[in-house]
Amino acid sequence: MKERYDFKEIEGKWQKYWEAENLYTVPDFSQRPKYYCLEMFPYPSGKLHMGHVRNYSIGDVVARFKTMKGYNVLHPMGWDAFGLPAENAAIKHGNMHPAEWTIDNIDTMREQLKQLGISYDWNREIATCHPGYYKWTQWLFLQLYKHGLAYKKKAAVNWCPSCATVLANEQVKEGSCERCKTIVEKRELEQWFFRITNYADRLLDDIKLLEGWPEKVKIMQENWIGRSEGAEIHFPIEGLEESFTVFTTRPDTVYGVTYMVLAPEHPLVEKIIDDKPQAAEIREFVNNVRNLSEIARTATDAEKIGLFTGGYCINPMNGEKVPILVANYVLLEYGTGAVMGVPAHDQRDFEFARKYNLPIRIVIQPDGPDLDPDTMAEAYSGDGKMVNSGPFNGTPKEEGIKAVINYLEEKKLGRGVVNFRLRDWLISRQRYWGAPIPMIYCPQCGVVPVPEQDLPVLLPGNVEFKPTGRSPLADSPDFVNTTCPECGKPARRETDTMDTFMCSSFYYYRYTSPRDENAVWDREKVNGWLPVDQYIGGVEHAILHLLYSRFFTKFLYDVGLIKNIEPFTNLLTQGMVLKDGAKMSKSKGNVVSPEEIVATYGADTARLFILFAAPPERDLEWSDQGVEGCYRFLHRVWRLVAPMSEELLKAPSGFDGKPAGVNREMRRLTHATIKKVTEDTGNRFNFNTAVSAIMELVNGLYQYKELPETDRDPAVMREAVEHLLILLAPFAPHITEELWAGIGHRDSIHRQPWPEYDPEAIIEDEITIVVQLNGKVRERVLVPADITPDKMKELVLAQPRVQNMIEGKQVVKVIPVPGKLVNIVVK
Ligand SMILES: [Zn+2]
Ligand SMILES: [Zn+2]
Repeated sequence: MKERYDFKEIEGKWQKYWEAENLYTVPDFSQRPKYYCLEMFPYPSGKLHMGHVRNYSIGDVVARFKTMKGYNVLHPMGWDAFGLPAENAAIKHGNMHPAEWTIDNIDTMREQLKQLGISYDWNREIATCHPGYYKWTQWLFLQLYKHGLAYKKKAAVNWCPSCATVLANEQVKEGSCERCKTIVEKRELEQWFFRITNYADRLLDDIKLLEGWPEKVKIMQENWIGRSEGAEIHFPIEGLEESFTVFTTRPDTVYGVTYMVLAPEHPLVEKIIDDKPQAAEIREFVNNVRNLSEIARTATDAEKIGLFTGGYCINPMNGEKVPILVANYVLLEYGTGAVMGVPAHDQRDFEFARKYNLPIRIVIQPDGPDLDPDTMAEAYSGDGKMVNSGPFNGTPKEEGIKAVINYLEEKKLGRGVVNFRLRDWLISRQRYWGAPIPMIYCPQCGVVPVPEQDLPVLLPGNVEFKPTGRSPLADSPDFVNTTCPECGKPARRETDTMDTFMCSSFYYYRYTSPRDENAVWDREKVNGWLPVDQYIGGVEHAILHLLYSRFFTKFLYDVGLIKNIEPFTNLLTQGMVLKDGAKMSKSKGNVVSPEEIVATYGADTARLFILFAAPPERDLEWSDQGVEGCYRFLHRVWRLVAPMSEELLKAPSGFDGKPAGVNREMRRLTHATIKKVTEDTGNRFNFNTAVSAIMELVNGLYQYKELPETDRDPAVMREAVEHLLILLAPFAPHITEELWAGIGHRDSIHRQPWPEYDPEAIIEDEITIVVQLNGKVRERVLVPADITPDKMKELVLAQPRVQNMIEGKQVVKVIPVPGKLVNIVVK
């Protein structure tokens, strides 16, 4: 073998070999148990960044490890290829088509992934912008439509004037467009929605099934769904034949209402102020508030501004007149657009009441000193008994909630309800580069779905991309004009395209049947592979992508297309890659390009550094010295193994008798390393500690190699080196493959079974026990591992330091605990 480690030669050579041998092609059906290892597929934005390299290196170790552990591992890769950047790039570059831009990027990134030596089954590659894929995106839209889960309505939407598109609430960050940072406006548009709210209860309940998910992600999902139990109460408006409804989680405090707040956009505001002197002032206020984003209005530190409308409503419980205000912090989209003000028992209401000098009335009195509305410093939301509440006086809080709901329902003044924060999923996009929504508008038949056999509805090739506020598809007569599938007369196509979150909600099912033209997937295959055993990706997808995927999964289950009710059994959210303490970004100028690292040090070094520098969930601080260190380590492995290859080739593979002395020590280190790497890699994903254990094994091997040849056992050496290579193989697949071949193996190292450690070999000859004096640890003593309790006592008491300890005292008892300690009880 060559004297020097030459990654350039090795890496290309083995990548070609693996491809030629179809090493990573996985059969759909196998005697081996299945394991589905999945990394979130990337948006083909140009080139891989370090975050990608981290994501895929982690996934690759898991996939390779599980394969060696005897699983049939599905490890696919594809492209989340529709979306705005392609279209924006096309606009920017004038004559470039989004498809061209996207496919170029895919080619570049695929090549980069191959250079990293990631073990993907490329036969299963998918791209969501390919008609063979989006045919099924459209087909699934039709299934949702058929089941009443896709519908169209006019809605105020978040509009980014710069991107000229609708944004989901989730894509609005602090009032601005997530992509371009422009302040988001509101617009009324006819939009397609998915009725995800029908699944709110199940999406929430089934979070408890997600035992393999990080706690923080589950909490984020729970908060996003936002279930709250309470009551709707109707409040009639004085002098009008109208009433409005409020939702409250605390119907037990309804006697404490001292004011009422409506959202400025509430449809009744205009009727209430119509004949009031305040009308002009309120109208101006309403207009101002309308233009503010939801986030700006509801931020906890935003100033809460309210105005009296001049109107009153009637508290249905006690007939009291309650003043009606409008305020910036109440939104029409959430709840009912009306909030009852109970300042004594709600902190936001309390602050608002203090600011505007509104009355505060105690209706829940805790045990202990009475609350005093004039002096209390904050609202009281704890337990207590109802007071000032007519017939309910004396009822404890929890009981009171139920009692008031019963009363409201009996008198038809309101009802108990469950409210969710989750809204329906807005999927319409007025952009070109997405899957066209497969619907047709006929003047006679109305809204008609495209027949399934006519799918896919293809994107037209030649369109202007200039953002105008309506879909570019609307300007393509060839696309728009069609015939009605029902009556055959001229009709128009829907011109909106689908949110790309739709494409990514089912891609992991499609990997099981990536080229199937007749069905979205083969049932037997999908049920054989799913659910995904390990999903790996960034925490930025903790809410939307995962929630939408869970929604799709439940729908697909309901219609019998799959058998699993949750898509991802285990989830790992990897940390960010930082440099100088900040996330790598072009604007900060702290980007390290994977290309450069791979060109300078090779893929094995890049992977090893990424896996060694931090545990997967934590952020990883980039360190040039760290990269150098990993590069030196791989050289060290090379220099250890390569010169010995001849010697190792001749070494026997079994042992004559039991190795003893230094040979036993070497074996102990080998097997202790197998145990540690197996546990760290398999159970805990602590790749960093697994790698450092491998580094210690290399150190031990160097020391062992220095021993006189007569002391060393060639079989022990061979066992140690072979296991070193196998343990390192998932982390550094190329160098290990080369050295493996160099010591005489013909079969790929990546097809070797993962080794089991020999429990006999890891037993240490000597162990450390502690000496306690009256239960307190005082000393540590090295004893033979197989020592008897009596010998333990004898040996401990013979220690000079122990003798000093007990000098002049009376030894009452000596209690040996084998393998652990000896306790000496003295008086
Ligand atoms: Zn924008
Ligand atoms: Zn028709």
